[in-house]
Amino acid sequence: MTSLPSKDITLPKPVPETELSGWGHYPVVRGEERLGEDLEAITQGVVLTRGLGRSYGDASLPSRSGEAVAGSALADRILSFDADTGIVRAEAGFPLWRLNRLFLPRNWFTPVTPGTHFVTLGGMVAADVHGKMHHIDGCFGEHVTALRLRVADGRIVECSDTQDQDLFRATIGGMGLTGHILEVELRMKRIPSPWIFQETERCDSFDHLIDALKEAGKTWPFTVTWADFLNHGSRMGRGLLMKGRWADPSEAPKDLPRFRHPPTLPPIFPSWLGQPFLVRIFNRLVFAAIRPSRGILHPESCFYPLDIVHNWNNLYGRRGFTQYQCLLPDTPDHAAQHRLLDTLRRLRAPVFLAVIKDCGREGRGLLSFPKPGISYALDLPIDERTQSIVDTLNDVVVAEGGRIYLAKDAFTRADHFRSMESRLEAFQAVRRKWDPHGLLRSAQSVRLLGDRP
Ligand SMILES: Cc1cc2nc3c(=O)[nH]c(=O)nc-3n(C[C@H](O)[C@H](O)[C@H](O)COP(=O)(O)OP(=O)(O)OC[C@H]3O[C@@H](n4cnc5c(N)ncnc54)[C@H](O)[C@@H]3O)c2cc1C
Repeated sequence: MTSLPSKDITLPKPVPETELSGWGHYPVVRGEERLGEDLEAITQGVVLTRGLGRSYGDASLPSRSGEAVAGSALADRILSFDADTGIVRAEAGFPLWRLNRLFLPRNWFTPVTPGTHFVTLGGMVAADVHGKMHHIDGCFGEHVTALRLRVADGRIVECSDTQDQDLFRATIGGMGLTGHILEVELRMKRIPSPWIFQETERCDSFDHLIDALKEAGKTWPFTVTWADFLNHGSRMGRGLLMKGRWADPSEAPKDLPRFRHPPTLPPIFPSWLGQPFLVRIFNRLVFAAIRPSRGILHPESCFYPLDIVHNWNNLYGRRGFTQYQCLLPDTPDHAAQHRLLDTLRRLRAPVFLAVIKDCGREGRGLLSFPKPGISYALDLPIDERTQSIVDTLNDVVVAEGGRIYLAKDAFTRADHFRSMESRLEAFQAVRRKWDPHGLLRSAQSVRLLGDRP
């Protein structure tokens, strides 16, 4: 194991009372984010740690207004890498974009990536993120070999599948509620080249889209679809299927991929740009313009198409947006999927962007989101109907034996969550064991798990 030199300067940068929110800009709360290179020091006595705030709702927000949370962003050192096993250990604030840009040219990649690379390793563990490779590679947590945590009583604990396994498994997907993750150790994946080979296919109906997605998953390691759910007629749910794999060295460009710096949007965007009819026109233009294609693609264009512009979330204006992400088990007739589609149609839900993924085995984290079925990530601008839309969709999810993704959630009610989460009691039992006084909590755990504010 090669130890890389670590930085030993600590520059705590406390930010006084300020506004905190997730990626959806909803909710916004007053709070203090304690930033500092020494994560051990800044996590002392705080209720929660957050990463880059890429979760959409209230998962990374303090449990009550004005409270402090630790921010891991400056704790971003790689601690070791073993080129024989691919095992890398880094501080929890180490961002995925740097991991990728460091390792891609050396033919290594993270085994699982979400749809943005502006996330920290700690945030990836806490949400047990999944990606377009879930049907093959499972969740991120499956590839984590050990964690170093500060638990509620202040102790520093190393845990893994062989050491304090209950804590390890509850922390994977546990949304920061079991301890402050200080270090993450994971096994990287060898790749044949740093380039992607991708095919894009148009699917003219919802059934076509779901069938093609399931079929593609049998042979392609990366699959994802983009669906048009703003078109409420017979074309509702048509979309594009993207199928990818790592390019073989014989077909990959000789050069290494060049990494770009995305432009930033202005902080406030005109609200008229976010009108459903304009987005509907945009979706139609995209569908008409994109032709079936196949060829070599930059890895960041494959995995992070939305990262092409910083702060694209500003497009939703001051009121913000939520991403409702749910998973529904599937059957050959896709009956559950049709019930969701019919519900969205009946509600005339303003789904600006819909991403559908094929999910494989359940993760090993006690609250990991994916299990076999189909996942829907639906972007909804916040308006007076949002709560009732989410409530109605959650009725469908409960009835179909599905579940929602905590990293995206801001509106689910506690009773709905309890009805869809049979593993909740086991998770709470681990929390009670390691945090008997309920010190660790978030705005989300107050809303969903009944924690005290
Ligand atoms: C454009 C976009 C696309 C996305 N695509 C996907 C996707 O395809 N798949 C997917 O799974 N997710 C996806 N996400 C969600 C994102 O991957 C997760 O929300 C991830 O957790 C964000 O990481 P973060 O570092 O920003 O954490 P934050 O958002 O800051 O925090 C998320 C949770 O992790 C906890 N946490 C963070 N760091 C620590 C730590 N050091 N110790 C303890 N707890 C911690 C927080 O308390 C909070 O509960 C997407 C998000 C965006 C914005």
